[in-house]
Amino acid sequence: MSLILISSERFAEHQTPPGHPERAERAEVMDQVASRWRARGGEVVAPRAATTEQLARVHAREYIGLIAETAGRAVALDPDTYTSPESHEIVLLAAGAAVEAVERVMGAGSGAALAMVRPPGHHAERHRAMGFCLYNNVAVAAAHARAQGAARVAIVDYDVHHGNGTQHIFESDASVLYVSVHQFPFYPGTGSAEEIGTGGGLGLTVNLPLEAGAVDDDYRIVFEEVVVPVVRQFRPELLLVSAGFDAHERDPLAGMRLSADAFAAMTAALRRVAEECCDGRMVLVTEGGYDLHALAASLQAVVETLASPSLEPGSIRWPSSAIPSNRGRAAAAAAKRALAPFWRFI
Ligand SMILES: [Zn+2]
Repeated sequence: MSLILISSERFAEHQTPPGHPERAERAEVMDQVASRWRARGGEVVAPRAATTEQLARVHAREYIGLIAETAGRAVALDPDTYTSPESHEIVLLAAGAAVEAVERVMGAGSGAALAMVRPPGHHAERHRAMGFCLYNNVAVAAAHARAQGAARVAIVDYDVHHGNGTQHIFESDASVLYVSVHQFPFYPGTGSAEEIGTGGGLGLTVNLPLEAGAVDDDYRIVFEEVVVPVVRQFRPELLLVSAGFDAHERDPLAGMRLSADAFAAMTAALRRVAEECCDGRMVLVTEGGYDLHALAASLQAVVETLASPSLEPGSIRWPSSAIPSNRGRAAAAAAKRALAPFWRFI
């Protein structure tokens, strides 16, 4: 599998107050992963800024104007979301990285791209910034893929928080499937199993709300019983992943207990289904992840999984935590109940 990393050292310039979890050191971890990839002969591409046209497919023009006015200034946009004077340029590069990743993968017709960006995007709504997110990078990517001719795009979001912005942007859109696995109840409050989309998008919002404390086996169950079967039946022409690493056991913001190997297993499971549905076309866009060691290990595990030459059927090795937990079964059962009219489940 060919893998391209989209990254920019400039992401570190999006600075937040000292002690804030969305700090520049995250960008440095991403730079280290990119350097290691380059040292192995891998391709690392610097992103271009997203255009207003690309952003306006998923954000209101008044909102894009409001964010442009923060250029050169430090502004608090919501209780968690700040800009530094450089942030305006950086958020355009982050959304542009997601666009670049889509163009590379769609242009090549196969392969994967990993856009290592900050700030994250999945809480950003059409009209407002929220939860460290200014522009919804993965939503901009999905809309760009549609504009490039992809009839159906799937987004799988395994960040520990529910991607309220992504869900709301596409909830009535029959061409975009949104599947989220997240801690619930938790920030931002949305993401119950009963939220299944609206209008033409009914059944195309799939939420797997896991109680705090979920372990690797819980994620295996929801992936095997719901995430993979639904994506397979939807038959996307491109698979996008909101790759957040804050469900790791060391993360300071959330209460899940995933190992770095579980991120490799989720990536492998998604790669398999992308290979079945769309010649392996897959774009990962980073979201949260606030423990630097966990972020480094998990990102590296994802890169290794995508760079490995082939995945044989049955080769996905889920780590077992040996901690009994019923959280995965409960979340899978709730999602199946809510979505039974729309999908076939095992
Ligand atoms: Zn998160």
